[in-house]
Formats: sequence, structure tokens, C-alpha cells
Amino acid sequence: LKKIGILTSGGDSQGMNSAIRSVVKTGINNGFEMIGIKRGYKGLMENDFSKLELKDVGDILYRGGTFLQSARSEEFKTEHGQLKAINNLKKAEIDYLVVIGGDGSYRGADALGKRGIKTYGLPGTIDNDIPLTDYTIGFDTTLNVVTDAIGNLRDTMSSHERVSVIEVMGRNAGDIALQAGISSGVDAILIPELEWDITKVSNRLKHGFEEGKTHSIVMVAEGAGKAEDIATLIREHTDLDTRSTVLGHIQRGGTPSAFDRIFTSRMGHEVINLIKQDISGVALGMEKNKITYHTFDEIFKSKDVFDKKLYEIFEDLV
Ligand code: ADP
Repeated sequence: LKKIGILTSGGDSQGMNSAIRSVVKTGINNGFEMIGIKRGYKGLMENDFSKLELKDVGDILYRGGTFLQSARSEEFKTEHGQLKAINNLKKAEIDYLVVIGGDGSYRGADALGKRGIKTYGLPGTIDNDIPLTDYTIGFDTTLNVVTDAIGNLRDTMSSHERVSVIEVMGRNAGDIALQAGISSGVDAILIPELEWDITKVSNRLKHGFEEGKTHSIVMVAEGAGKAEDIATLIREHTDLDTRSTVLGHIQRGGTPSAFDRIFTSRMGHEVINLIKQDISGVALGMEKNKITYHTFDEIFKSKDVFDKKLYEIFEDLV
């Protein structure tokens, strides 16, 4: 029986469990033995392996987070750490390794690939910042969580004629801010991909209140600035009562959306398909609603494309 190892690494995201379930179920149903590796590359170096049966992935489809747990490891970036990991994989006779994580985790998977391990990447990050895939695992769920949270804030804020500056995650990408900003009908979106001008934003807010608005929302991507600083700037440019909110880790939580469950189910199926064809050193994603794959090198050489058109659409909605 050929063995497939699976781990989750880096920041966790909703849908990682659903991805594990899909890889494990499809793997077992196609005659592979499945090995779960706890706490990412840390567990890989520490031999924290256990065989996964179908029952082990029961009841996890709808749970956020990752039951294999995730971790970051500096040691794994060193040759010594990687050789330890490879030694453990060889001893356990694991032929293939599926890594669910973000860009850093892909670098780790590629490093193992260059040392002879057959590796596969699934884009596990809420930030939607991986090139050559239209979505990453958890992104859609996060958009829904942020949209709900803003709905709740709006209820209280509009009772007090206030401006709320809301900071969302995304690392260096503005995707969460832009898309959740559109779905929440906010008044301004500040993202790292585009220059922003506080005078323009402030004038737009002032104008809105003059026209009878009772509440305005400014969405800030963490890569573009801090909510508190932007709130201070807006207060300096207007006399509006401005409050800042950092949504924080609630954005990583929640039951995965139907989209994330289906997306991960499809990728899990495709990983097993690629393993059966002995194609390796690739990461999967979705482009134009098709599940696709590219070599890690191709992904590292590509830039995550920012959807400028979507920003233009937003500008016509304010
Ligand atoms: P993410 O996968 O979410 O981007 P990190 O950037 O923290 O999260 O990466 C997760 C882990 O991947 C790191 O803790 C490290 O063990 C491993 N990793 C990151 N970069 C490299 C690299 N250049 N070479 C080898 N391993 C790496």
C-alpha cells in the first residue's frame, strides 16, 4: 500500500479540515494508506505521525480550524531540520506528502521536493494571496464572517451618527478588504495595492453626512494601515465622531462556507488524481472554476494578480 502523508502549516483557515477530509477519504477509497502529521513541519521533524482511517475524518467537515493543528517552525527552514523531516518520512515509508498552507508552507514543500520527496500544495490561507488560483481555502468563509461582523457594527454605529474604521486581515493583500467591503456596502476601501488619499476619503465622508447619511464605514486592509491611525486622521480632517475596530482573529473562525467545502472537496480529489499519475512538485488551485495545478517554481515566479476591475466597480458603487 502506498502511503500519503498530510499536514497543515502556517496560519490556519476555515476549510482546512474539509480539505484534509477530502484528501483522506479520496485517498483511502483509492487504495492508499493515509498518515496524518500533527503541527505542520514541527510534527514532521518530531515524528508526530498517526494513521488516519475514514472515521478519523468524520464530523470535521463543518468545523473551522484544523484538527491536525498547525505550527510555524524556524528549525525547518534549516538543512538540519529538513534532513530530519526527510529521515522521518523515509522511515515511515511515506511516498507522497500533501501540505495545506500558505506561501511559506509552499516554500517548505518545495524544499522537500528538491530533496526528493513528492510534494503537493493546497492553498490554505484566508488572505487569498497565492498566485495562480482565484481563491484560497478559507477566503470565502472569511468574507462571510467579516460581512456579518460589519452588519452587527452597523446596527449600533448608525444609532450614534458615527464613522467606523474597520481593519481586516490580509497580510500584504487587499482582497479581504476589497471584497468584504463591496459585500458590506462600505464608503471607502484602503488597500495596499492602491494609493489612498485621506483628504479624498474625508471629503467623501463629510459629503455623505451632509446628504443625510447616519453612518459611514471605512474598510482598511492591515497591509494599508492601522485602523486607529486612520481614524485619527479622519478626525483631524472632519469633525465626525470616528471609531476604530480591529476585527482580529474572529476572521479565521467559523464553520466553512459551502463554497470552501466544495472547493476543498474538489482539490482533494484532484490531488489523489495527480498522485495516481505520479505528477508531483505542484500546488493546486482554481482558475475560472476549473481545478488546476502549477509547479511550485511557476507559483513563486508569478505575482498574485490584484483585481483592479473589482476596485473600479466599487468606486462606482459609492
Ligand atoms: P504560511 O504558510 O501561512 O505562509 P509561514 O510563512 O509562517 O506561513 O510558513 C509556515 C512554515 O513554512 C514556516 O514556519 C517554516 O517552517 C516553513 N517555511 C517558510 N518559508 C520557508 C522556506 N523558505 N524554506 C523552508 N521552509 C519554509
